[in-house]
Amino acid sequence: MRTIIEPFRIKSVEPLRHTTPAERQGHLEAAGFNLFLIDARHILIDLLTDSGTSAMSTEQWAAVMRGDESYAGSESFFRLKRVADALTGFRHMVPTHQGRAAERILFTVMCKPGHLVPSNTHFDTTRANVEYSGARAVDLPIAEARDTQALLDFKGNMDVGGLEALIRAEGAAKIPLVMLTVTNNSGGGQPVSMANIEAVKAVCARHGIPLYLDACRFAENAWFIREREAGYADWTPKQIAQKMFRLADGCTFSAKKDAFANIGGLLCTNDDRVFLEQTNLLILTEGFPTYGGLAGRDLDAIAVGLEEVLDEDYLRYRIASTGYLGRHIADHGVPIVEPPGGHAIYIDAARMLPHIPAAQFPGQALAVELYRHAGIRSVEIGSLMFGEAARHELLRLAIPRRVYTQSHIDYVVEAILEVNGHKESIRGMEILEAPPFLRHFSARMRQL
Ligand SMILES: *Cc1c(COP(=O)(O)O)cnc(C)c1O
Repeated sequence: MRTIIEPFRIKSVEPLRHTTPAERQGHLEAAGFNLFLIDARHILIDLLTDSGTSAMSTEQWAAVMRGDESYAGSESFFRLKRVADALTGFRHMVPTHQGRAAERILFTVMCKPGHLVPSNTHFDTTRANVEYSGARAVDLPIAEARDTQALLDFKGNMDVGGLEALIRAEGAAKIPLVMLTVTNNSGGGQPVSMANIEAVKAVCARHGIPLYLDACRFAENAWFIREREAGYADWTPKQIAQKMFRLADGCTFSAKKDAFANIGGLLCTNDDRVFLEQTNLLILTEGFPTYGGLAGRDLDAIAVGLEEVLDEDYLRYRIASTGYLGRHIADHGVPIVEPPGGHAIYIDAARMLPHIPAAQFPGQALAVELYRHAGIRSVEIGSLMFGEAARHELLRLAIPRRVYTQSHIDYVVEAILEVNGHKESIRGMEILEAPPFLRHFSARMRQL
């Protein structure tokens, strides 16, 4: 059989509510054409993010009931620790309330003003937390990643020569750690090869610099390695993930991604001194080290999710269904970032809407039209989000894990192709009011 089906059946359902185009036009106007400001109940298909939006399994819900809410030393912590230790092999693990809390603690402990933290591409919260510590975040993606149309198996890789050159120019003493984001979220959800992780580790080891993974999508990355990198076809996703973690000295992790949890994060390290300092900071801001700002039931849900996410049937379906959306719109002329990533499809809005200049936010114009036309929420990743620093004008369609079926995705495909059919009529946007920082969350706009 060639048909790939959702490897689950549905036990509990949540109704979706249809709205009319006229109602949606009203919601858009009331929200200043900012999709973050539209109530979720007015959204039919929500592709805003894959973060914290996963459907938990029956086993996860059962684990929630098992949660031990003891303040210190709860059973839930030890269940999570056993799973995390077997997977990552790191000496120390603490839970945190989200990935960014792990980042803040890691960089506060390791970074000083004047330091540099290289990555293949920093995620926006990672960059912000590096810079909050006074250090500078440096992105070193491979050069080919700039071309949205380049078809590469591992387009998320780090430029190893660039890393070597940076260390030579700045000196290893200024670089407290190197990060690798797997998969490379800001780079289109593109995977990083095992060979690249090994090469980065070799450079780090030569200079005595620790390597940390931003491991949010470690399982999706492991699946791409198995599918695309020579020598791994017979490995289980778990074995591949274990090897990825063994090459690193620690990791940050958002359980809202590849653990199917609705909240939570992890911070792991092999460094005893760093762990001690991290623990002190954790107690100050997150909570006692055996709960880290989470309820015991959350720890149990994460423990189960970390094992479920490595299921081969799940990962095959996950990567195939994201690719299905990408192929079906790209094959009908909608320009996407190639090849499809693991958790999201990115439409190249500048290419699709050449009549709208970057200063009129083509990605946002497309997001607005996709909502108005079909009730689908997506997010602009371009000049509205990043201002002058934007490298591309993209529209991201992030796929929540285990939430939507193929018919939902077929509806999304149909809607995008219909919008593509009348794209000449889509108008640019103008900002009416916006705060100085992270303006995409609250800016109000109008259509030109
Ligand atoms: C989501 C994400 C984070 C931050 O995690 P939160 O749980 O949202 O705080 C960090 N890095 C990457 C790559 C992410 O995708």
